[in-house]
Amino acid sequence: MSSRSTPLGEFDLIDRFFKTSADSLRTNADEAITLGIGDDCALIKPPVNEEIAITSDMLVEGRHFFVGADPAQLARKALAVNLSDLSAMGARPLGFTLAIALPAVDEAWLAGFSKGLFAIAKEYSCPLIGGDTTAGPLTISITAFGAIPTGKAIRRSGAKPGDDVWVSGTVGDARLSLAALRHEINLSSEDLQQVEHRMHQPMARVELGVQLRNVATAALDVSDGLLGDLGHILKQSHVDAEIALDKLPKSITLQKQDLAIQNQFAACGGDDYELCFTAPSSQRDKIQAISKSLNLPLTLIGKILPKRDSQAKVYLLDASGTLLSDLQAAPFLNSFDHFAS
Ligand code: ADP
Ligand code: MG
Repeated sequence: MSSRSTPLGEFDLIDRFFKTSADSLRTNADEAITLGIGDDCALIKPPVNEEIAITSDMLVEGRHFFVGADPAQLARKALAVNLSDLSAMGARPLGFTLAIALPAVDEAWLAGFSKGLFAIAKEYSCPLIGGDTTAGPLTISITAFGAIPTGKAIRRSGAKPGDDVWVSGTVGDARLSLAALRHEINLSSEDLQQVEHRMHQPMARVELGVQLRNVATAALDVSDGLLGDLGHILKQSHVDAEIALDKLPKSITLQKQDLAIQNQFAACGGDDYELCFTAPSSQRDKIQAISKSLNLPLTLIGKILPKRDSQAKVYLLDASGTLLSDLQAAPFLNSFDHFAS
């Protein structure tokens, strides 16, 4: 730990806002965590025949969140984005570490942060097992650890020509919420309420990821926009894709907007944290059954095609199957901007 100490006392702060809650959430079910907060390292015992999935995400004030953001929501989002990465590989969460830089010891802020953090940690059975605390510009860095049966991780590189392309939930609401908060778009307060949580309090599709282990050929979570993120699968799998623009699943609130905005936000809006995945068409019934059992819409939005030239491409189709645009997989988001309904 850093030598800089804080007025409350660094160890008191850790005890009060992190260790006590972390200890109270530890259960006998956390077999994989053999040692949590308090020593020089935490200890994880890899489950037999499983691999450990590891992911980190850092949130910096002013860059990833607004100055003055609600601490409980911030904590929730910081862990959710990591859980989302685990879900995209099909991993089940084991635990996480938190490295945090704080400009000052603000006990009310820390209490809110801690409350939000442990609420989501409990929801996803993912205990806090260690970390680091220092003074500095507000920065929150979480590393999450997950487990997955050996060889079953859903990578970005497995999509095959002929596979279906699917996306979970709805896409575009986090972007709509951002547009409203930036006053780019006018939303009624009821409509804003409907979409705001998508931006501030994302869900991680952990259970979906686990159920897709033997079903999906490739997957990722949509953090930067559906088409752009799909581009990563295409590049790593050496394939193209065709996507039916009118099939993109949109909330009722987004459907109230102009069609050009709907398409733009659903196709390219970031921060949705839905899963985009590919699977052979023989898995359709299975995927519908998963959708039903999780009470989560899973929508077939397109198809993987053999790669035509050196650049992976997305072919965008309208409702009649007519080609609207072909976009280079990366970086092609700009080319979608002037695409109208
Ligand atoms: P060291 O100096 O050995 O690196 P620290 O003094 O940084 O240890 O931390 C003491 C203990 O508290 C360690 O077990 C560490 O993982 C834990 N810890 C420190 N900061 C946090 C935090 N923000 N959240 C959770 N655990 C933390
Ligand atoms: Mg040490």
